[in-house]
Amino acid sequence: GNPMIRRALISVTDKTGVVEFARVLAEEFGVEVVSTGGTARVLAEAGVAVTQVDEVTRFPEMMDGRVKTLHPGVHGGLLAKRENAEHMTQAAAHGIEMIDLVAVNLYAFEDTVSRGASFAECIENIDIGGPSMLRSAAKNAESVTVVIDPADYEAVLDEMRANGGATTPATRRALALRVFEKTAAYDAAIASWMQGVRAAEEGRAGFAAPDTLCLTARKQLDLRYGENPHQAAGFYRLPQAAPHSLACARQLNGKPLSYNNILDTDACWALAREFDEPAVVILKHQNPCGSAVAARVEEAYERAYACDPKSAYGGIIAVNSQVGTGMVERMFANRQFVEVIVAPSFTEGALELLATKPNLRVLATGGVDAPDAWEARSVDGGILVQDVDRVSEDPAGFTVATKRVPTDDEMRDLLFAWRVVKGVKSNAILVAAQRAGVGMGPGQPNRVDSAMLACDRAHEACARMGIPTDALVAASDAFLPFADSVHLLAARGVRAIIQPGGSIRDEECIAACDELGVAMVLTGHRHFKH
Ligand code: 5GP
Repeated sequence: GNPMIRRALISVTDKTGVVEFARVLAEEFGVEVVSTGGTARVLAEAGVAVTQVDEVTRFPEMMDGRVKTLHPGVHGGLLAKRENAEHMTQAAAHGIEMIDLVAVNLYAFEDTVSRGASFAECIENIDIGGPSMLRSAAKNAESVTVVIDPADYEAVLDEMRANGGATTPATRRALALRVFEKTAAYDAAIASWMQGVRAAEEGRAGFAAPDTLCLTARKQLDLRYGENPHQAAGFYRLPQAAPHSLACARQLNGKPLSYNNILDTDACWALAREFDEPAVVILKHQNPCGSAVAARVEEAYERAYACDPKSAYGGIIAVNSQVGTGMVERMFANRQFVEVIVAPSFTEGALELLATKPNLRVLATGGVDAPDAWEARSVDGGILVQDVDRVSEDPAGFTVATKRVPTDDEMRDLLFAWRVVKGVKSNAILVAAQRAGVGMGPGQPNRVDSAMLACDRAHEACARMGIPTDALVAASDAFLPFADSVHLLAARGVRAIIQPGGSIRDEECIAACDELGVAMVLTGHRHFKH
């Protein structure tokens, strides 16, 4: 049958609910409660009968609490196989009594690190005895019940009530699994912190490519399926997720997010958050089919939508500032079918309006500040990790390569296009006018086709938006390998081009620009996105 719980060891940093839990164990089930310094004090003060752990170990807690429970008197009582006669004889010979339940939660190491504590303080907050007890108990889940989460106290007590003071094997095994998930995450946090300390000591900024990638991720969302209905999937949050990252966003309205929603929202949000002024990006299938910056969000939305209403159908909208009723009314007036709208925040009025569309997913990130420092993607049997594509886009570092210097208006549009092209799949050409991304050519295996697509879309958009087609600018995410793209773009009304430069045929491209009266700006860095 199930082993009765007669003796419990309780040692917790997070003391939530611990008094009630211990009280019920002691008073309702007659369990002997053994406890460590701080926990014992809290229990005793609340009038719960408690045995100090040093009575069990016959050693004082010492070395500032570094050594409290690391003793055969504790670990023998946890690890002994109850059905193994030899184990039990040895336990008896050494005066070791069995411990049937362990309630432990650990020193808050991660919190200590994130509040910027000193190295010494972080080290002191590496729990040693706690994980050891958890692991001993979890290894022996055959006989021992182990609770790491105060949220589980009630369920454990309920099960004991239903089972004559015992828990079931299934529960003990489930709790044991939680332990190893927890201790794996705990050690991963310690290792990544140490890697960070080391990288800082070596003066390395950005992703330091440690020998081992130490991370565990918690499930954030159960997804109905992956990219396609026959693929199972989940959404996991990394421990280092920045507070305003997508993984930390709150969903305020709408159907559950799908795998593709999350992927596209990520790409869309990454672009919108790049801008300082009000910006709206509309994205479909990883590419921004509409984008605009304006003095007001409503205007930015209207112009981003006008870039390509056909593609915007079923798209994602990302906004880098608060969304109010004005913008939502315009979305509704356009009858735009939207999968997800993501923004730092929404006004009450906007949320009320959005709530009339029960399917429309609304995500609030709470802010726009810096994204995570690095990003990862998986390949067959491995993971690729790199710094997030962020560089200083200081125009002072750009050079004008042509005889003609861009006008102020052209320069403004070039800088806008240079930001947006970064979010377009390579090979990417983005044609812009009046700070709107009017034409996009994404993902073609040659740059001329991308340029052609971008110009076709741009001419349609300009007709719709009343923009003259002889004052366009274009951005290319990587260098123009031949002058052919220059000729094509110029023939379609592009008057200025921004691109990294660095091709062996730069001179040819620059000469073509000079011949055609096109201004060309070289940035010196590229923005591939594959
Ligand atoms: P208390 O507040 O009861 O003094 O300490 C509770 C904390 O001590 C728990 O988080 C538990 O994981 C941790 N702990 C228990 N035994 C040991 C030990 O032997 N060494 C260390 N470093 N921590 C322990």
